[in-house]
Amino acid sequence: MTATAPRHEITTPDELPEEGPVELSLRPQRLAEFIGQAKVKDSLRIYIDAAIVRREPLDHTLFFGPPGLGKTTLGELIARELGVNIHTKSGPSLEKPGDLVGTLTNLRAGDVLFIDEIHRLRPIIEEFLYPAMEDFKIEIRLSDGPKAQTITMPVERFTLIGATTRLGMLTPPLRARFGIEQRLNYYPAADLETIVRRTADVLKVAIDAGGTAEIARRARGTPRVANRLLRRVRDFAQVRADGMISESVAQSALQMLDVDQLGLDDMDSRILRTIIEKYDGGPVGIGTIAAAVGEDQGTIEEVYEPFLVQNGFLNRTPRGRMATAPAYRHFGYAAPAGIAQPELFGN
Ligand code: ADP
Repeated sequence: MTATAPRHEITTPDELPEEGPVELSLRPQRLAEFIGQAKVKDSLRIYIDAAIVRREPLDHTLFFGPPGLGKTTLGELIARELGVNIHTKSGPSLEKPGDLVGTLTNLRAGDVLFIDEIHRLRPIIEEFLYPAMEDFKIEIRLSDGPKAQTITMPVERFTLIGATTRLGMLTPPLRARFGIEQRLNYYPAADLETIVRRTADVLKVAIDAGGTAEIARRARGTPRVANRLLRRVRDFAQVRADGMISESVAQSALQMLDVDQLGLDDMDSRILRTIIEKYDGGPVGIGTIAAAVGEDQGTIEEVYEPFLVQNGFLNRTPRGRMATAPAYRHFGYAAPAGIAQPELFGN
């Protein structure tokens, strides 16, 4: 998705090219094994059980939230709980309706069509999906041009599960067609510790409570990052220690890997440093920050800012964004008198 500077590639929430197979092996197999996000899990359990009792497909479901928090995993879990097949597509890879015709006509009743990055669907694909989502029909154009003939074909009743990091970029008509909308939030440290313990179990890595806590603390609230840090620290432990990940082994490894104490990545740091160093701590408008750090404004608002606000580094005020005292201290500056304290509520 977004390009993060390589220096902090290790803490990027996006999937790295080589991570596909290992992520697959780490995915929980049942909804009950999915750690944390209790509200999301409880609601899904009810919707799934109700769909099973009514023998109907689950309502179209939209997951949104920053990368690496489990949207794809939940899509797969839903299909498994419902006992149906899942067909996976990525929004940007769909160029023309024809790319979906085969998949849609081959769906069996109740199947799941999962579309990742659904905010990046082309308008022509979105329009093609509307009747499929609403009336389980598709319209196929037989030729091009104004007088082109179309035929209407029925498809089986299915569930579309969409995943997006950018809810704000979804068009209102598409968003309105989802009956269920679930937001995923960053994971508290305790949940990340459980995830690290579970992954260590699957990968057969020896780790103690101190090592688990250290990795969880630096994982940016993100399971994907926690799992990646664990794998890298394991390599270090095998070569430099006796294979056992203790607190001190984890600390040395993460320091060597240049992972920030609190899991801030390069873009987080650039955003905060820009506010502190160029704009005196703010307030400064989001558009100005975006231009200064060379990142898309929407990505900052939906991917980076929630993490910084939740962790008390940034406040959103009506006049703009402001760095907080902990942000100053984190970068080794004395906080100016009267500087904002973190907001006590999350994002
Ligand atoms: P997203 O689709 O939101 O980018 P994924 O579903 O691909 O995230 O999850 C990234 C990785 O983190 C996967 O390997 C997944 O197994 C793991 N993961 C995510 N959420 C959880 C969770 N709640 N419990 C255990 N593992 C998780």
